[in-house]
Amino acid sequence: MHCPSCSKEVVADKLFCNWCDAFMPNKTVGKKADLFRRGLASAIDPFIVMILYLILGSILGAIFGRGIKGFAFVIVTTGYVYFLSQLLSKGMTLGKWLLGVKVVEKLTGNSPGFWRMILRETIGKFVSGLVFSLGYFWAIWDKDGQAWHDKIAGTVVVKEQKQ
Ligand SMILES: [Zn+2]
Repeated sequence: MHCPSCSKEVVADKLFCNWCDAFMPNKTVGKKADLFRRGLASAIDPFIVMILYLILGSILGAIFGRGIKGFAFVIVTTGYVYFLSQLLSKGMTLGKWLLGVKVVEKLTGNSPGFWRMILRETIGKFVSGLVFSLGYFWAIWDKDGQAWHDKIAGTVVVKEQKQ
């Protein structure tokens, strides 16, 4: 078997090329996402919401006075939930979107869709966290970089290819 991207001989049962990290089932999908980028994407998600709230809260507060905080919170939360649902159906969260990584269906490279992402982000990550977060660290030595929540949802994480 040869890599569709760099044409080198590769191990048949892997999803990523061991030479160039290209996603083998469809090289246009991207390359294997490095763990630092994945970790950073997950880590910044809650901060983005906080920053949005602080910025919008102080803008609205400056215009309408202090009593507006609760209102700002509702607007930011509503906007975030809406935007997040759009991103989730494309295999992303805000942090992943900003860092150019996305979750794809492991055999096709297509988007896993909204409900499979929900499964991955909720039950999947809960299971990954159960035993000293072992499920998260699993991605370090797994041949396809899959954490337990990826195995549960049937997904891999790719770094998007610049078109
Ligand atoms: Zn390759």
